[in-house]
Amino acid sequence: MAGKNKIKEALRNVIAGKILYDEPMSRHTSLNVGGNAGALVFVKSEDQLVEVVRRLREKKINYFPAGNLTNIIVRDGGYRGAIMLMTGMKEIRYEYTEGGDFISAQAGAALAKVVIRSVSDELTGLEFCAGIPGSVGGAVWMNAGAYGKEMKDVIKTVFLLDAAGEKKIMNREEISFGYRKTEFPADTIILGAQFKLKKGERAKIKKKISEILQWRQKKHPLEFPNAGSIFKNLPMQIAGKLIEDMGMKGVNVGDAQISSKHANFIVNRGKATASDVLELIALIQAKAEKEKGVNLEPEVVIVGED
Ligand SMILES: Cc1cc2nc3c(=O)[nH]c(=O)nc-3n(C[C@H](O)[C@H](O)[C@H](O)COP(=O)(O)OP(=O)(O)OC[C@H]3O[C@@H](n4cnc5c(N)ncnc54)[C@H](O)[C@@H]3O)c2cc1C
Repeated sequence: MAGKNKIKEALRNVIAGKILYDEPMSRHTSLNVGGNAGALVFVKSEDQLVEVVRRLREKKINYFPAGNLTNIIVRDGGYRGAIMLMTGMKEIRYEYTEGGDFISAQAGAALAKVVIRSVSDELTGLEFCAGIPGSVGGAVWMNAGAYGKEMKDVIKTVFLLDAAGEKKIMNREEISFGYRKTEFPADTIILGAQFKLKKGERAKIKKKISEILQWRQKKHPLEFPNAGSIFKNLPMQIAGKLIEDMGMKGVNVGDAQISSKHANFIVNRGKATASDVLELIALIQAKAEKEKGVNLEPEVVIVGED
C-alpha cells in the first residue's frame, strides 16, 4: 500500500509521460465513477514501462496496468498505488511472412484503430472487435469477444513483461484463455500482440463492421457512460435477458441505473458513485440468486478500496 508521497518519491526523475497524483479515476473510467489513484501514470514506451515497474517493485508499491479503463470499476476509496496506462505504446503494423498475414499492435493501441488498419490492409478476422472500446492490452487480458468470437481466435503471439521485468513472448498454445479471462503468469503485463488474419475483400470487411456498429448503436446505451456488460452470461442463459425477465430494467441506486435499453448495462445518469454501481450489482445478484437460483458473476474488473 502506498500514498501519493511514497509513489512520488519512487518515481522521482523517471522519464515518464504525464503522471497525475491523487487522481480521481471518475475522470478516466468509461463509467465515470471511481475514487483517487495514488498515481495515474501515462507510460510513453516499453522501456519507460520497465523502468516504472522496476521502481515501484523496489519500493513495494502496488500497481496494475490498464488500457482504456472501459471494463473497470475503481471503488470510491480509490487505489493506493499506481495505475499505469500504456498511452504511448500505440504502434500498429502489418506483417507478411511465410506463415501468412498478421497485424502486430502494442498494448496501448485502441482496438478500434487495429480494426481500421485491418480494413485498409484488406485483412479479415478482426471484424468482431468493431465497437469494443478497449485497448489491445485490455482486450487480450480479458479475452474480449463478441458475436461468437474471442481474441483467442485471432491471437498468434503475445508480447509481455514478466514478473522479473523481462520481455517475453508467449504463443497462443501456451496461454490459457477462458470466458472473458486469461491466465498469464502472476504480474504479467501485456506489451502487445500479433493477430493472425486472412486476406479478404475490403468491401465485405467494411460491410460486416458497419453492420456490427449499427447493431451496437441500436442495442447498447451508448448515450450514457457505461462499462459494457456488467455480468458474464451463464452457460445456458444470457445475463441481460435474465435481468430483464426479473423486471429490473430501469431500477436505480442513486444515479446508477440498469439501462432500459439493455439490462446487462449499468449506466451513469449523472452523478453515480462506484458505491451506487456496486450496490446495484449486489441487488441484481441477490435477486437472481433468490428468484432464479443462479450466481451472476461480474464481467467488469473491480479494484480499489471501499
Ligand atoms: C460500450 C462498451 C461495449 C463493450 N463491448 C464489449 C464486447 O462486446 N465484448 C467484450 O469482451 N467487452 C466489451 N466491453 C468491455 C471492454 O471494452 C473490454 O473488456 C476491453 O477489452 C477492455 O479493454 P481496456 O483497454 O478498456 O481494459 P481496462 O478496462 O483498462 O482493463 C481491463 C482489465 O485488463 C487488464 N489490463 C489492461 N491492459 C493490460 C495490460 N497491458 N497488461 C495486463 N493487463 C492489462 C486490467 O488490469 C484489467 O484487469 C465493452 C465496454 C463498453 C464500454
